[in-house]
Amino acid sequence: ETIHIQTESKNYNVFVGEGVRKELGTFLVNHFSSLTRILIITDETVAKLHLEKLLIELKSFDPVIFTAPSGEKAKTFEVYYAALSTALENRLDRKSVILSFGGGAVGDLSGFVAASFMRGIPFIQVPTTILAHDSAVGGKVAINHPLGKNMIGAFHQPEAVFYDLEFLKTLPAHEIRSGFAEVIKHALIDDSNFFDWLKDNVEDLQTLPMELLSESLIKGIKVKGKIVGQDEKETGIRAYLNLGHTLGHAIESEMGYGNFTHGEAVMIGMIFALKVSKQLLGLSFNIEEFIDWIEGLGYESKIPDNLAYEKLINKMKQDKKSVRHSIRFVLLEQLGQPILKEVSEPVLLDQLNSF
Ligand code: NAD
Ligand code: ZN
Repeated sequence: ETIHIQTESKNYNVFVGEGVRKELGTFLVNHFSSLTRILIITDETVAKLHLEKLLIELKSFDPVIFTAPSGEKAKTFEVYYAALSTALENRLDRKSVILSFGGGAVGDLSGFVAASFMRGIPFIQVPTTILAHDSAVGGKVAINHPLGKNMIGAFHQPEAVFYDLEFLKTLPAHEIRSGFAEVIKHALIDDSNFFDWLKDNVEDLQTLPMELLSESLIKGIKVKGKIVGQDEKETGIRAYLNLGHTLGHAIESEMGYGNFTHGEAVMIGMIFALKVSKQLLGLSFNIEEFIDWIEGLGYESKIPDNLAYEKLINKMKQDKKSVRHSIRFVLLEQLGQPILKEVSEPVLLDQLNSF
């Protein structure tokens, strides 16, 4: 299936399906008239598992390969610098293309390399995680600063996304959960049809049939595409994609990245946001039933015991969405009706204590 993404700065396609990598060679030839060099940016894990399969499709292009450390470690200044050095040493120029091959971390790194190298060169996303159905679409690219995640970045849309679902077959259980949390997020902010369909059909993430996974991802990408199509630079509704992320990011960073996946932390954040939505906005939604469902899928639904609430609140105040120390949350008025709302500290503390 092909999903068309239309943003102010660029229109591009997301090709989804098993084996879509086989179309990559033809796309490169047709899309770039005078392509000089291809730089593949990947990570150690993905390189080991899947790079050979990708290289078969790109033999005639003789690509340069840069391998980053796996996971969040790919998004440091040092790795960014090393990737730029590789690009310069191999004489990439404005007619070269960067190919991002990996999960969201590699995608964010590669995209930022592409956005900043010679003031911006084209890049293509070849995502290999479920989470990357979210991160590979929409053009937010970034690396981390020791003082904050994703603090150094750009908006740089890809020329295309080749989402070959065959690569997903090697994902470990916690990475499947991490990515699927964002699918559930997309369902919660979209409409009840998507959510009800998901809840009726998905019972076990480990044995999810490919057709079901594929359809979930396509629906998720469409929600993401619809939102970034209306608000590419996050001046308004794009912020709705942060449902669950205010508390989620705080949990992630307090636990230490790598101990808790992004999506697993966001899932707890979403439960929290649903509860606050019920209290403040009268959201009618069966939260208990939701928790039963996601626990059955293997998610934690509680904040880890060792995390102090004051620390979490302090972290949330540092969130990019926060305006002068009040904490702004994405809440749901109803399923599919997100809004941004400032929530006072007493309400938060109260909810955290009864969580
Ligand atoms: P990731 O890239 O770190 O991948 C998770 C782990 O899975 C890594 O260890 C990786 O090596 C491994 N992996 C990747 N593909 C695999 C495969 N096919 N089989 C087995 N292992 C594989 O992380 P992610 O979860 O894909 O993405 C998280 C990152 O995405 C974060 O840095 C987050 O900030 C970013 N993100 C960006 C956006 C955006 O809009 N730009 C949106 C959401 C998240
Ligand atoms: Zn996220």
